[in-house]
Amino acid sequence: MHPLVAAAEERLKPLTLARNTAWWDVNVEATDENEKRRAESELAYSDALADRELFGELDRARSSNGDPASARSLELLRALMLPHQIPDSLRSRIVELEASVEARFSRHRGVIAGREVDDNEIKRILRESDDPGERREAWEASKTVGGTVADDVRELARLRNEAARSLGHRDWFSLSLSIDELDEKKLLETLEECDRVTAEPFARWKGALDARLAERFGCSVEELRPWHYADPFFQERPRDGSVDLDPLFKGRDIVALARRTFDGIGLEVAGILDRSDLFSRAGKCQHAFCVDIDRGGDVRVLANVTDNQDWADTMLHELGHGVYDLGFDDALPWLLRDTHLVATEAAAILFGALAGDRDWLERVLELEAAEAGELEGRLRAARAAELLVFTRWVLVMTGFERVLYRDPEADLDAAWWELVSRYQLVTPPDGRKAPDWAAKIHIAVAPVYYHTYLYGSIVAAQLRDALEAAAGGLVDRPEAGKVLAAKLFSPGASVRWDRLVEEASGRPLSVDSLARAVASA
Ligand SMILES: [Zn+2]
Repeated sequence: MHPLVAAAEERLKPLTLARNTAWWDVNVEATDENEKRRAESELAYSDALADRELFGELDRARSSNGDPASARSLELLRALMLPHQIPDSLRSRIVELEASVEARFSRHRGVIAGREVDDNEIKRILRESDDPGERREAWEASKTVGGTVADDVRELARLRNEAARSLGHRDWFSLSLSIDELDEKKLLETLEECDRVTAEPFARWKGALDARLAERFGCSVEELRPWHYADPFFQERPRDGSVDLDPLFKGRDIVALARRTFDGIGLEVAGILDRSDLFSRAGKCQHAFCVDIDRGGDVRVLANVTDNQDWADTMLHELGHGVYDLGFDDALPWLLRDTHLVATEAAAILFGALAGDRDWLERVLELEAAEAGELEGRLRAARAAELLVFTRWVLVMTGFERVLYRDPEADLDAAWWELVSRYQLVTPPDGRKAPDWAAKIHIAVAPVYYHTYLYGSIVAAQLRDALEAAAGGLVDRPEAGKVLAAKLFSPGASVRWDRLVEEASGRPLSVDSLARAVASA
């Protein structure tokens, strides 16, 4: 191992462990003490990445020939450290502000009719309620967090841009892509192609949805507003008009179903589940994530499981990240026991989608074969609709982040609704003037990341095709698990993400699979 790689590993390993542990603790319980520890560990880690001496040595050593693992480690280290080569005061200001915004998201609860409600309750109302007044209140409650963080999110964009410019980049958008080994031109072309292949089927599908919603709520199509859709951002396919699987999940043990799924594919999740925190509690983060604490087997999932399809999907998704993290080749050096976000999201999306897959419903949920067969066509249409809704939503998010970083002083409230109208074909509330964009937590704490989900879902579709050919599918096929483990998980970060995708799925990333899949909506 190159001495610089060894030195960096020795330095970063304990700091990464402390940072991951603190991140876990603050999300499990958002106390002041945990928030303080989170900020401190984040700063210590960021301090190490900011080490100018080490960075200078990396810059010089990069070109020297060594073994491939060391050369790759040096390349990744440089990308990891680059955004931290900025003035200390700027760096700590960004870290502190991110932590503060994130804590406010964790603690915030919307209010409906004088009563505090969590995100699950808001989503339930938007899915189930037939009362437009109640829906509107729930939708508005989902946006109030935006007002409490918007100024700081805008400030974060300014600070991030200042950092990017000091490193010779146009703005944070461009810097982020470059350190993620993503080509901006290729990304913009891919997004345009995604727009092109989804515009017509989305308009057709949404036209039918709107007609049903207008009838359900006793209004005209022109009177439909954001709260008539089934989630706060219209980012998920509504159950309405397609197939509602929630009754099949009612009273079922979602965690046991997830374990059974991975058992059938020959991938071990028992250890992950033992370390996880899976159910809702006050003061706990309301989202879900998987974290690899130590790159040595301590992988955990945080979730707020309830017995519906969403949470079955989410549990399978997060455990998909988990089995990926556990699957890195033991021989890889610590720095390469990691992977690109596109690759891990692809695996997670592949597994999450099983909760709406005919094979899975029959084998794991033990639905009657006849019933599952009857559902099959509608499930395929539902998956197509899901891809359409999701793709249009990513076009909004990525489009918005381009605006945000191009000019943080722009009229962001107007820019947001302009994109929502253009891509999602949703009519803004009349006279609405509010920072609704800021209610999306990713803009604050996972900046310039959303396109990763889109790439991930495109790669997931490619993987599904590849596994169909290699193992006849995924559910109860240990052979498919072996293919994923060998071709996708095991190389870790030793291979660049686009080559990994090509090797694991048999072809480079393209919108062809997406175009085919959305055709059945
Ligand atoms: Zn994920």
